[in-house]
Order: sequence, then C-alpha cells, then structure tokens
Amino acid sequence: RLMYMASCSYSRSSVPTTKLFIDGKFVESKSSEWLDIHNPATNEVIGRVPKATQEEMLAAVDSCSRAYHAWSDTSILTRQQVFLRYQQLIKDNIKELAKEITREQGKTLADAEGDVFRGLQVVEHTCSITSLMLGETLPSITKDMDTYTYRLPIGVCAGITPFNFPAMIPLWMFPMGMVCGNTYLLKPSERVPSCAMMLAKLLQDAGAPDGTLNIIHGQHDAVNFICDHPAIKAISFVGSNQAGEYIYERGSKNGKRVQSNMGAKNHGVVMPDANKENTLNQLVGAAFGAAGQRCMALSTAILVGDARGWLPDLVERTKKLRVNAGDQPGADLGPLISPQAKGRVHQLIQSGVDEGATLLLDGRNVKVKGYENGNFVGPTIISNVTSEMKCYKEEIFGPVLVVLEADDLDEAIKIINKNPYGNGTAIFTTNGAVARKYTNEVDVGQIGVNVPIPVPLPMFSFTGSRASFRGDTNFYGKQGIQFYTQIKTVTSQWKAEDATLKSPAVTMPT
Ligand code: NAD
Repeated sequence: RLMYMASCSYSRSSVPTTKLFIDGKFVESKSSEWLDIHNPATNEVIGRVPKATQEEMLAAVDSCSRAYHAWSDTSILTRQQVFLRYQQLIKDNIKELAKEITREQGKTLADAEGDVFRGLQVVEHTCSITSLMLGETLPSITKDMDTYTYRLPIGVCAGITPFNFPAMIPLWMFPMGMVCGNTYLLKPSERVPSCAMMLAKLLQDAGAPDGTLNIIHGQHDAVNFICDHPAIKAISFVGSNQAGEYIYERGSKNGKRVQSNMGAKNHGVVMPDANKENTLNQLVGAAFGAAGQRCMALSTAILVGDARGWLPDLVERTKKLRVNAGDQPGADLGPLISPQAKGRVHQLIQSGVDEGATLLLDGRNVKVKGYENGNFVGPTIISNVTSEMKCYKEEIFGPVLVVLEADDLDEAIKIINKNPYGNGTAIFTTNGAVARKYTNEVDVGQIGVNVPIPVPLPMFSFTGSRASFRGDTNFYGKQGIQFYTQIKTVTSQWKAEDATLKSPAVTMPT
C-alpha cells in the first residue's frame, strides 16, 4: 500500500508522462495507476508510466485488428520500403536513442549505442523480406498438377520486453512481425519505456500506417490481457523465467503461438592452452559489461587445469574497470536497474561467502563520486565456488563473476550440462580438437569458440535452449519469419481438354 501511494504521489507533479501509442496517436492515459521511472545512477524520478486501463488496451488491440486487413494486403515491396526508411531513421537517431537508454536503464552511452545497433541489424535484415518470405513450388507432382506454398501473416502479434535492452529486444520483435504483414501490440518494460516510444515515432515517420503498431504500458494486467485476448495470435516474450514460463503456459492454453526467451547462467571454459591475454580481456569484458545485466553475460568461469593459476591476473585486470554513471566519460560499467536489484546482488555475494567461497574482489562498497544514491555495485569475483552454492545456481544479473575449477575438459562439460540453463557458453582454447569436442558435447544453444558472447547476427537465429527458452521457433532469422507466418499450400491441376475425367474418381489416387 505504501509503495502504491508513493508511486501515485507524483500524479500531479511535473515529471513527464509516458504516452500510449494507439491508432497512430501518442495519447495520455486516463489511468489512475502510475509507476515512477527512475534514473538508476541517481534514483531520481524522471518520469511516470501508466498502467493502461482495460478500455485503452482494448482500443489498442482493436486498432491492430482494424489495420491488419489493409496492412497484410499491402504489397511486400511497400512493406520493404517502410523498413528501408526505418533503418535509415534509426541510424540517424542512434545517439538520441542511446541517451534515452542511458537515462532510464543506466548502461554506458557506448554500450547503449551497441544496444541500438544490434537492434538496427534486425531491421536491416527485415529489408530482405522479399527473399525471406519466399514460398516453395514443385511442378508436375502428377500429370498437369503443381503444388506451391505461400508464407502469409497470421494476424495481430504481441511482444513483451525486459528492461535490459530497451532498443534491441523490441527491435527483435515488431519489425520482424510487421514486415511479414502482421500488425503488432508492444508492451515494453515499464522500467524503461521511453526508447520504445521513440522507436514508434521513427516507425511512424518511416511511413508505417496508423494501427500497424500500438503500444500499451503496464505490468501483470497488461500481460494477462495479451495472453487472453482472442485477436492476438502470437506472443514474443523476453525476460525472466518466472514471467516467461507463466506467459508461455497462459498464452499456449489460449491457443496462441508463444516464443519465450528467458534467464541464463553462461559458462566460459578457460583451457590452459588459450591465448592468455586475449582470454582474460574477453572474460572481463563479457562478465562485467553492462554491469552483468545481459542474458548472455559470461557470468561463470571454469578454469581448467593450469589455467587455475590465471586468477590473480584476472583480478588485476578487473580492478582497472571504472564504475560511474553511464553518461560519464570513461565509465566501463554503470549502475544496476534498481535498489532492489542491488540488494539482491549483495545478498547473493554474501551467500557465496556464507557457503564457503572466497571473495577475491568485493564490489559491494563501491562509491561513485557525485552519484552516492545510485544503484552501483563494483566488479566482484568469487572463487572456490561449487555447483551446489546459491551464487552458482541463481542468475545473479549483476557485475559478479563466479569462478569454478575443473581438472579437465570432460569435468567442465559435465558441470555445464548439469546446469538447467542453455542460453550461451564460450570456450577459450588454441586447440581445434578441444573446441570441436566442446561444441559437439556441450548442451547449450549458442556456443562461442574464442568468442565470449556468441549472439548470432540476424541472418541466423537466437537459439538459447533448455531452461533458457520455451517454444519451438526462435527469434529473428529464418526462424523468426517462421514464427510470424503461416503456410498456405495450393495444389492445382490444369488439364488439357482431352484429359477430362470420364467418371467420378472415388478412390484415393495412387
Ligand atoms: P522480467 O521478467 O521481470 O520482465 C520482463 C517483462 O515481463 C516486463 O515487460 C514485465 O512487465 C513483465 N513481467 C514481469 N514479471 C512478471 C510476472 N510475474 N508475470 C507477468 N509478467 C511479468 O525481466 P527483466 O527483469 O525485465 O529482465 C531480466 C531477465 O530477462 C533476466 O532473467 C535475463 O536473463 C532475461 N533476458 C533474457 C534474454 C534472452 O534472450 N534469453 C534477453 C534479455 C534478458
């Protein structure tokens, strides 16, 4: 109740409000429930976001439904032109988008530009829709008979996104869905909604007709609305397991397609034959970049054999990272998203200590001058961790590297395959046979060989597996097109006149 009152106390204040995007218009919500948006570097309230009312959510989905007929019927070249213009507009505005990401999410400006850039690549990929959406044909299946398939849109699709990539993850969703001829309802993370609103404005400027993209805001009610509304045919979700498993089940029960990308625990295996300089730099960057708030953060290292001796070097390199507000020059990592996230990370670090691990580097008391109220945690390294410890089992989602040890590659693979998550992993080695064995035997959906964060470019798909994914068709690439389309198969026979049937054919043709 107190939290509710706190979030409402700004209702008449001067902080900017996030609009809804309904039927081509940016409109103020009539909701009586609003959530505060904070700058994670200061915890100042910098805006408010509404929990959209039922009427507003219905208006948004109705707008998607009304726009669907014309948009799905628009020529594919016209849709391609919209996204060709869109990719240019995103490029022209990359700095502005990045600034907004840093303000609401906290990551460094350079990393925020990367966030936009990786989403932009998906938009560029959608511009190949004229090839991606090709069907199949097979002539002369039998005499005078040909079969061909069309890939067609499925209707209104919806996306629900997390806080950690305010640009990239929405851009995994609505451009892919819309270029196929679907209309789209987006519910961005309530913690970082502004970047999605800027992306919507740019899409409108690129010529997307009114109603083809609608945006609502909120939390559980908005998510339930999406899972239940019969007009919505498919849901793309990215976020935590708690939300993702729920949405997968509720959406599927209602007959919708659901693709759900979820949490992770990504292991980096360091072989003693690896290029040490390169490996340690890659590991430090991938563990602590974005303050560890990436689903593909390399948050767990397994040092194999003599690589165990590299720990002091790893710690020295990590100490050089600079913690600061994301818009400050030279910042390597910014704050965590919220005081709650910071508290949770502190507790997980303490749990490691309590369970007998060694705290080699403790970032809990980091002070950032001028930003004393921010949610900062400095880079932290915990060694002597075992797979039974809480800090190993849980996704920490902070700048914490947990270090395990293994005698050989087999032992490392065993540890990883026992972990429920299958999002990403990397091996560092100069031995091709070792890399081959690893990629063959490790049960993880995305593997890097001397590549610490192996997120595939959009001509491939994002293929996390096991507990990191529910569904059967992945995000973007060919699989993304499959997710957002259905197939219609036509079998036609054009007989010459002299081949006319003389009597009814009552048996199956053989
Ligand atoms: P989150 O699950 O808290 O929120 C994601 C979305 O779900 C938000 O829009 C939120 O409003 C909604 N939501 C939150 N809790 C809900 C609930 N109980 N029921 C219904 N809806 C709910 O996730 P987050 O904290 O914003 O993001 C971090 C998580 O996302 C991490 O676990 C990270 O690994 C994961 N992630 C995964 C990928 C991937 O591709 N696998 C990418 C980015 C982030």
